[in-house]
Parts: sequence; structure tokens; C-alpha cells
Amino acid sequence: MSFGFLTAQDNLSEETKSFVIHEKGYYVLQNLTILDGTGDSAKYNQDVIINGDKIESVGADLKVPFGALAINMEGKSAIPGLVMLHEHLFYPKTTPDKKYGVDQMTYSFPKLYLAGGVTTMRTAGSIMPQADVNIKNAILRGELPGPKMDVTSPHLDREGTGLVELGPFDSTEQAVKMVNFYADIGVTSFKVYNFITRDDLKAICDAAHARGMKVTGHLCSITYKEAADLGIDNLEHGFFASSDFIANKEPDVCEPFKQSKSLLNLPVDSNNMTDLIKHLVEKNVALTSTINVFEPYTKREVVPGGGLIALFPKAKEKVYKRWASKQGRDSLDYELFNKSKIWEKAYYDAGGLLVAGTDPTYDGRIVAGYANMRLVELFVEMGFNISEAIKICTLNGAKYLDQEKAIGTIENSKIADIVILNEDISKNINAIRSAEIVFKNGIGYSSKKLFKAAEGIVGIR
Ligand SMILES: [Zn+2]
Repeated sequence: MSFGFLTAQDNLSEETKSFVIHEKGYYVLQNLTILDGTGDSAKYNQDVIINGDKIESVGADLKVPFGALAINMEGKSAIPGLVMLHEHLFYPKTTPDKKYGVDQMTYSFPKLYLAGGVTTMRTAGSIMPQADVNIKNAILRGELPGPKMDVTSPHLDREGTGLVELGPFDSTEQAVKMVNFYADIGVTSFKVYNFITRDDLKAICDAAHARGMKVTGHLCSITYKEAADLGIDNLEHGFFASSDFIANKEPDVCEPFKQSKSLLNLPVDSNNMTDLIKHLVEKNVALTSTINVFEPYTKREVVPGGGLIALFPKAKEKVYKRWASKQGRDSLDYELFNKSKIWEKAYYDAGGLLVAGTDPTYDGRIVAGYANMRLVELFVEMGFNISEAIKICTLNGAKYLDQEKAIGTIENSKIADIVILNEDISKNINAIRSAEIVFKNGIGYSSKKLFKAAEGIVGIR
């Protein structure tokens, strides 16, 4: 699958230029501490030569080539641009009833993702697929600042969720038509949802795979094991959406209450979970951790990653109210959160491709950019070391997208997607919040300016 990531962006608009600190050029970034995304431990006193949109070389005490500009980065650290795979361009409305759904954040979200260090993302579900495709192309042309994008179809589903933005299908044939329609308008991956049948999933996978595209799912009616056997490529939300442990589960039926109860009742060291993990790894099914969405409220940030400042007043009020009402009343959330951390790590330890995504939806607490930084931190809370946490959020995402030869690490001849942090991330994962410059295709953007541009407007534009 080609996402057009290598397209040159040489005609930046005035708006895009206003966020640029370093135009495309020839640079030697000197004396950095680097976590290169491969999972190796930190390397100190490293120089990185960026030539155009590529990394020309990485190493200690490199000679400054003729015509290159040396920039001293002493005291700073670098990681590859984040590659995150569940990054919607929408945000929940502040209306009282959930059925009114979500609004497109065309202006703020692409900026916030880039500000948070995301240089490549998959949307994993859209409500305005045509808008997402147009935004992706405008970013590639340099008209808008933002990450490179794999645009996912709308959530393909039968009747059930009741969200006004989603258009359900009522036959497997119609589902296949939708796959081809969305692929024709420029979508490059697919997402299936809660109420599909096994026949639907098989047909959707076959149609998408025939076009060289992948399918992910936030499941409910279908178990993870069934989906793996039917050819799905990726499962969303760790094990939170697994219905595999409902006793005598009725096929093709979604029962959310029984589903969450079955996970609460499942012992954390259950052999049934170990068997499921083994099966998913054997079938090459990637697992997306969106553990940040399930972060409990008690004694945790109102907006994880620190993004309260980005919300418009009404959204701020709604999110704060919910957070306050949950203080001391989320012990079940904690229980499932703690178990899930163990299960997701077990999947990784068993050889599974664990990838990351933030899913900015639900109750409005998840804000693009800020949530990405928080998710990186949560992988360390999950028990990964810092190098592994970075790898999951960079190289693993690139591998899933089949782009690991071009992006995902700081290595010779890769595309220059590099986040420069003011603090040393090799010592403390919270340094992820100190981004200064985000290089994307060799162009250095100011993280602060991008964050600033989206202050107070998330929820309206
Ligand atoms: Zn989602």
C-alpha cells in the first residue's frame, strides 16, 4: 500500500510557514541523546545529519559537510516522529445526549498531532472521509501543517450504535460496495465496528485485501479469535473489546454489558487469555493499545497529557464535571485498567505487534497531541522500559503500515521525521512533554507555536 508519504512538500502555504523553525535544508544536529526507535538503549553525544527530507547519517563527532549548518543540541534528546494508529480528526460534541455524536476538528487536530510529535498517523475511523482525504492531501502539498496520514473509512457497521454520523449497511453486499466506494475516494484502510456479522467481516477483509489495504476493528459481535480466523489485520483497544470470554456467547450478537462483566471476571493470569494471545500472534494480528482512553480519573489529570488549555469553555466545563464526579468512584475502571496493562504487555512479550493510538473520542477527555504524549508515558507505567515504549509508538506503527524502510527510526537514509525534546527522555519518560522542534520530512516545526494555535478551540473547530 502506498500512502504517498514520499511526496515532496516544497510549496508551503503562509499558514504552514508560520510554524516552521527550520526550512528544508542541510543540517547537522550536534550532541543529542538519541533513542532511535529500534528498541536499543540510548546513545549519547550523537550527531544527526539531515539533507533535504532524508537522514544522511547518524553517529558521534560527525564532520560537518560543506554547505551544512551545524546546530548545537547539547542537553536535548531526540526520538523518531511518532507513528500512531487510532487518531481521529473528530471530537465529541458538548450536547447533552451522546447520540448527537462528534464534530470534525479540521483546524485544531492536525496541528495538535504534529505539536505532540506525531509525524504519521492512521485515523482508524472517520465521520467525514472526504474531508479527511482532502486534509491528508492538503498536508502533503504543504498547504496545512499536520502529520502524514493513512485515512481510514467510516466505521463500517450494521444498525446498533445509533450515532447520527454513521451510515449503517444492512447486507454483506452493501458492505462490500462501501469498501470499494471509500477506496475509490482515497481512503487507504478500513475499520469495522460493533454489530457486524462474521460474513460481513470476511467479505470486507477480502474486498480490502484485494485492493492491498488493511482492516482493523473495534469489535463486539465477533470475538477476537473469530476475527483473526476471518483475516482481520488489527484489533483496537487492547483486550477491552474482546467478547471471547462471554460464556455461551451467541454468535454475531453484541452484548456490551456481558462483555465487560466477562473481562472483570476473568482472572488476570487466565490460561484462556494466554491461548487467545498465542492465537493472535500466530495469525499475525496486530493489537492497538489505546490504554489512555481507559485511564482512571481518581488522582489522575483532568485531561491526560495536560490539554485542558486546548478546550473551548463549554467542553472544559463538561470534561471537568465528569472528572470531578468520578473521583473516588472509579474502582472498577482501575481494576480493568490494571488487568489490561498486564494483558497488553503479555501480548507484546509473546511476540505480538503492539501498536499505539489515542482515540480522541468518548467523553472529551482525550485531546489530540496531548493524549499522544500521555500514551507514551503510560507504556512505561505498563512495565515497558523507555526504549520499548518509544519503539511501540514509532517503529511498530511503521511496521504495521509496511513503511518501516522509510519511517519509524532515526537511522541512515530514513525520512527525517525526528522530535527534538528539551529534556533527556532516556532518564525520564515525562520528557516527552518537552518537545521543541518536530521535524517532518526534514522541515522543523515549532511544537509550542502549533499547540498555541489550537488553544481554547478544541470542540468547535
Ligand atoms: Zn476510535
